Amino acid sequence: MKKLLKWPSFMLVLILSLVLSGCSTGTDTPSTSGGVDAEAKGTIERIKERGKLIAGVKYDTKLFGLKDPASGNVEGFDIDIAKALAKQILGDETKIELKEVTSKTRIPMLQNGDIDIIIATMTITDERKEQVDFSDVYFEAGQSLLVKNDSAITGLESLSGVKVLAVKGSTSAQNIREKAPDAEVLEFDNYQDAFTALKAGKGEALTTDNIILIGMQQTDNSFQLVGGNFTSEPYGMAIRKGDTAFVEEVNTLLKSMKDSGEYDTLHEKWLGSKPE
Ligand code: GLU
Repeated sequence: MKKLLKWPSFMLVLILSLVLSGCSTGTDTPSTSGGVDAEAKGTIERIKERGKLIAGVKYDTKLFGLKDPASGNVEGFDIDIAKALAKQILGDETKIELKEVTSKTRIPMLQNGDIDIIIATMTITDERKEQVDFSDVYFEAGQSLLVKNDSAITGLESLSGVKVLAVKGSTSAQNIREKAPDAEVLEFDNYQDAFTALKAGKGEALTTDNIILIGMQQTDNSFQLVGGNFTSEPYGMAIRKGDTAFVEEVNTLLKSMKDSGEYDTLHEKWLGSKPE
């Protein structure tokens, strides 16, 4: 009889502890996902609170992001996309701060919160996807070579023992080591320095995305592209990992720019008409 009477109190303790542990799981779960959500909403909310978008862009890349030393203006395809994003979020394309990134500094600057987004000729790669999230592809480039018009170099096959110039932190520097293991690769901090070095004869070829090389060639037609495209470089905008709301915001922008024809207008303005 006594034994039977003990059952209800034992059961009560058991039920109570189950309820309590259930409760604590109940509060843990929403707060964890709430944290992720808050983080995801975070960038857009921070932009709205601050009243401006901070975009990490190139200052050294004609056609995509180039700073004019005389006027101080930064211009290019990436810059116009950044302005369109500011307009979508804040209703005003001038509510933007551009910060210079290089191929090497862009991911750390995004991760430590210096910038909200990277819009800087950045190729989407699996390796980079471990560190950042990417928008949909907004431009397709391919790696090539820039050489003097009278150079004997015709492509990857001519690079054995040749000094090839590239930029630190770029896929170009990584790829050329794989594709031309006998070349001597010299790395610079940015594309201006690399091009200056090429002009000064510090190397016989400069390698990066075809569209960046075309931008250089437009300023000095004693150089030409050779060797075709030997990689595929799909450009994406990079966003802090886990910030899915912001990725969606950027993809919505790309879609609406494509639907409205604004994307084609910008493409035409900076890069010529799109190949069909
Ligand atoms: N698209 C290539 C990359 O992301 C080369 C251009 C650059 O260095 O930004 O590395």
